[in-house]
Amino acid sequence: MNIPIIISGGGLIGNYISLRLRKSGIQSKIIEKSNDLHDSNSSIRTITLNPRSIKLLQNEGIEISSSSIKNIFASDADGTGRINFSSDDIGYKELSSVIMFNELNAVLRKENVSNTLFNTEIKSINYDSANEETEIHLSNSTYYKSDLLIACDGRSSNVAKLYGFKNIGHSYDQTAATFLVNASAKNNHAYQVFSEKGIFALMPAPKGNNIFTVVWSLDNSLLEKYGLEDFIHKNLKYFERKLGYRMDIQSDILSFGLSNHYIDDYIRDSVVLLADSAHSIHPLAGQGVNLGFADADVFCSQIEKAYEQGFKINEPTYLRKYSIERESLNLMMLKSMDLFVNAFKNDNPYLRLIRNLGLNYVNKSKLLKAFFIERASGS
Ligand SMILES: Cc1cc2nc3c(=O)[nH]c(=O)nc-3n(C[C@H](O)[C@H](O)[C@H](O)COP(=O)(O)OP(=O)(O)OC[C@H]3O[C@@H](n4cnc5c(N)ncnc54)[C@H](O)[C@@H]3O)c2cc1C
Repeated sequence: MNIPIIISGGGLIGNYISLRLRKSGIQSKIIEKSNDLHDSNSSIRTITLNPRSIKLLQNEGIEISSSSIKNIFASDADGTGRINFSSDDIGYKELSSVIMFNELNAVLRKENVSNTLFNTEIKSINYDSANEETEIHLSNSTYYKSDLLIACDGRSSNVAKLYGFKNIGHSYDQTAATFLVNASAKNNHAYQVFSEKGIFALMPAPKGNNIFTVVWSLDNSLLEKYGLEDFIHKNLKYFERKLGYRMDIQSDILSFGLSNHYIDDYIRDSVVLLADSAHSIHPLAGQGVNLGFADADVFCSQIEKAYEQGFKINEPTYLRKYSIERESLNLMMLKSMDLFVNAFKNDNPYLRLIRNLGLNYVNKSKLLKAFFIERASGS
């Protein structure tokens, strides 16, 4: 069967692309490995979206409940460094919005349910250069030909592996724990503490007053003596003291191993990588899927342009514009996150002094703060 676009992976980005292109008249089919039913009980995980990602979703008619972050307070627990960002600094309504991951995933999946094949994955990919077509065989024994094959199948991308893209990455030897707490902090404030007990973030969750989400990145060495749950229950008090708020855990604790990776070229023949299939970063700045939405926006704009101007949707000139615009920006974000992780991991007193001076210096400069906020907002 022929279909213009095959998308491997029906996560946030695969579903967004399929919905947007369909509205522009370009049909696609999503190949999703998991079952279509998601576990509604596991609505613990949140995700922070910047204003650009929110706008992209709204343009497609996607509205879901969210909580606003208007102020972010970051500090070095072992020093004097402090920085705070406010939406007022640059006249924004908010810095970012926190949404429930599963809620957005379910809304986007519903939009594409009729063009998604669940419980299946791609087993082989062959490029027919004479016809500029990609042939795909699935695990359910069906077969498709398409003009474009798009990988949105996450950080262990099946398509990237099958098509031999070179993956460069490393493990942080850290675990991120995430859970909901009841806290008396202000509802539009977010807090981040860099400390010897890990990087601790507290953000308002869209679950009613006083419910906050914690994302806590911990070195695995800290977990050798106690397991994750024990460590969290024993050390939450430390952050209660640092922030001045009591926190009562309200959910199970989810955990994720942390690593980063990037692929040095996002396009080969008519196979294109986007979002986590092409790059993944440390979650400390909550930017991973925002980079994915920015990839998807640039990619869709190019495909829409080619289609409107009567070119084939796999015309290399248009595809290349996507990779030229996104690859270096994504790599820059990955390297910046690594710089932060390493600077705050290191106990060297000189480095601590420099990072504290650096935080305080940026905090005093309106111009530098505006620069960082603009970057984080996806502008
Ligand atoms: C602890 C943590 C906190 C985070 N917080 C934030 C945040 O606040 N803000 C932010 O911007 N980002 C955050 N991120 C990053 C964000 O979760 C990812 O960037 C985002 O989920 C990537 O979306 P995606 O659609 O590219 O991939 P995924 O969400 O990984 O989706 C991939 C999809 O492909 C499917 N799939 C997998 N394998 C196959 C296969 N072989 N065949 C077919 N389908 C397949 C999967 O089932 C899934 O549906 C966080 C990440 C972590 C770990």
